[in-house]
Amino acid sequence: MARKVSKIGVLTSGGDAPGMNAAIRAVVRTGNYNGLEVYGIMRGYQGLIEDDIIRMESRSVANIIQRGGTILKTARCKEFYEYEGRKTGYENLKRRDIDGLVVIGGDGSFRGAVKFSKEFDIPCIGIAGTIDKDIYGTDFTIGFDTAVNTAVEAIDKIRDTMDAHDRIFIIEVMGRDAGYIALHSGIATGAENIMIPELKSNMEDIIQSLQEKERRKKLVNLIVVAEGDEFGGANEVQKVLSEKLPKAEIRVCILGHIQRGGSPTCIDRLIASRMGYHAVESLMVGRHNVFVGILNNKMNYLPLENAVKNKSKISEEWMKIVKILAS
Ligand code: ADP
Repeated sequence: MARKVSKIGVLTSGGDAPGMNAAIRAVVRTGNYNGLEVYGIMRGYQGLIEDDIIRMESRSVANIIQRGGTILKTARCKEFYEYEGRKTGYENLKRRDIDGLVVIGGDGSFRGAVKFSKEFDIPCIGIAGTIDKDIYGTDFTIGFDTAVNTAVEAIDKIRDTMDAHDRIFIIEVMGRDAGYIALHSGIATGAENIMIPELKSNMEDIIQSLQEKERRKKLVNLIVVAEGDEFGGANEVQKVLSEKLPKAEIRVCILGHIQRGGSPTCIDRLIASRMGYHAVESLMVGRHNVFVGILNNKMNYLPLENAVKNKSKISEEWMKIVKILAS
């Protein structure tokens, strides 16, 4: 028998991602439409522990679908790693009779939700909100499309000046553990080389092809590097290349936090709206402790535990495409 939920909480946790607001809006409005009371928990698990919890109505989420960031704010919360912290969070929910929780965040936030739901019997539904797209069991995570488009726009601009001067450019995009932003933005901007944490880069190959270009006096080359690649980011790659190509002009550009901000793309708004809606539906029908993903354009509900145990994999085929299209 599905347990009836009547009051639900929603929070955003971990790294922020454009489109989180659209997801909050969908959760609040779907909840209200179905007669549930919806509470916004400020600053992720930190606000849960500090009892920073506010009632939300449809009006509270007006005019936010187009805004980056998160109106509920987000945080990283040390106390939530400890049982005592989670217990305090539970007591704050219990006092208000909140009986379901929607967690919008990345795999770390899901890990916290898995523990919390097991210890305190509060059903949790995860919504994958992370620019890194590194969650197993979904083709999309909220914020990825916006971040990639921001990176593409920036790289296109850099390419103009790179071409004008015949330079090597190494552009670092976000992704400490995941190379999706680098891979997608690199392919979309015609990068010659893409370096990501998941796969070993063949530096010898890269150096050889650059030396060949140098001989032909055509040393223009775009390298997109994820911040967590095996060499340790763009500055480190530059050091290695400069040693082997002392005469070349090698410039570094680190795109940084612009990739997190800005108005979400249409795709991010759509998936956030769908995921928010289905997260509340899941709580209502008793589909508990899952995260809401989208696979092959269908909603996919995977136990939260699977999402945190498995890693999404980069297909080798993508790297083959990079190589062939840059030849
Ligand atoms: P993200 O959700 O973007 O991956 P983090 O990894 O920083 O970001 O996780 C966000 C928060 O989730 C952490 O600050 C912490 O409060 C909680 N959390 C993460 N991992 C765990 C864990 N193993 N146990 C309990 N709480 C966790």
